[in-house]
Amino acid sequence: MSIVCKFGGSSMANAVQFKKVKDIVLSNNERKAVVVSAIGKSKSTDNKITDLLYLLYAHIKYKVDYTPIFNQIKERYMAVKNDLNLNFDLEAEFDLIEKNMKVLNQDYIVSRGEFLAAKLMANYIGCKFIDAADVMKFNFDGTVNYDITCKLIEEAVGNEPVVVIPGFYGSYETGEIHLFSRGGSDVSGSIVARAIKADIYENWTDVSGILMGDPRIITNPRKISKITYEELRELSYMGASVLHQDAIFPIEDENIPINIRNTNEPENAGTMISANDYQTETAITGIAGKKNFTSIMVIKKRFAKKIDVLSQIFNIFKKFNLNVELVPTGVDAFSFIVETQEFDKIRYNVIEALNGVEDIVSINTENNIALVAIVGKNMAFKPGFSGQIFAVLGKNGISVKVIAQGSHEYNIIIGVDNKDFEKAIKVIYDNMVE
Ligand code: ASP
Repeated sequence: MSIVCKFGGSSMANAVQFKKVKDIVLSNNERKAVVVSAIGKSKSTDNKITDLLYLLYAHIKYKVDYTPIFNQIKERYMAVKNDLNLNFDLEAEFDLIEKNMKVLNQDYIVSRGEFLAAKLMANYIGCKFIDAADVMKFNFDGTVNYDITCKLIEEAVGNEPVVVIPGFYGSYETGEIHLFSRGGSDVSGSIVARAIKADIYENWTDVSGILMGDPRIITNPRKISKITYEELRELSYMGASVLHQDAIFPIEDENIPINIRNTNEPENAGTMISANDYQTETAITGIAGKKNFTSIMVIKKRFAKKIDVLSQIFNIFKKFNLNVELVPTGVDAFSFIVETQEFDKIRYNVIEALNGVEDIVSINTENNIALVAIVGKNMAFKPGFSGQIFAVLGKNGISVKVIAQGSHEYNIIIGVDNKDFEKAIKVIYDNMVE
């Protein structure tokens, strides 16, 4: 049995957190590979090192004195080293970074957050450090070269009892450093899990699992103990922020479960994400949502063929690279739900192009739409469930503007006015879950 565990920035925030990480890693000898983020926040007023590194790069680029910010970063790492009494030449690492950062690119500078955090952690645990630049390999189009990467990771891990690998970056064939998108250490961890064919990918953070809904809206939402990859994808797409969206892809095919755990509460079993079906106490697994969508309502001439008009409309959206979230359609009237912020950049061009479609009679737009996704594999087996949701909304005076159900019946998406967003989530949770 082997486990890959990834620790996020808050788990790496200071010496106290480093100690918790070491204890967790050493408490189970199946924990073979440890992937770490850069030092993060230990309190809300702290800065994340990654943010400071981006700032450092900007200072260098615009030739502003970078020393205060460089020193601030250095102090955070030095404090960890000194508090843990590590015998490690961190000064030399910073000297090298200072030399290199004037000639190397932004990705190099930003990647040093993870690089140094991993070096310190490997030293503290007393195990092998593997530089992600040597094993995590990108193609020139920015995608990961899985064949080479998996082989290199497997070789580097070998029979070591434990290894530490920095997350968030890798390199091109040329050796030049390349970053994943923000929060990308989740993806690194997932790739390492795939490479060493881990049995579990543990993702350690500062919450004891995924909650059924946003705690800022729902009072004391329940924790999700099990969820499928698909359900999680629906929830994350609709705004639930738990894991980097791309973290599922590398391990989904291998069916390696992801276990979300809390570094500050290691005895809590957290949330298990896998392909496996399971029974839940409630038909709903989770609720998420986002505000600020626009509905573009189009009416076509009665005799015009629906397929012809729709294909022309989609070509226009494609031309303007406008992502359509939902398409509720009637016989002659269609709505296209798009993100307002995206739409606003090209609103008049899109409307002008739609006006050019011969068989369109009218075009209207409505802003301030919020989408709420009610996700749950087990909803499909409950006849009348969606009816109950609409009844609850109606009873609470919330008018539903859009209704959609994913064809696999994992989710029901409803559109309400922005002002009813929080209330809709709350009344659905209170009545359908509790
Ligand atoms: N440190 C990086 C970030 O803040 C990557 C990560 O933590 O996953 O985005």
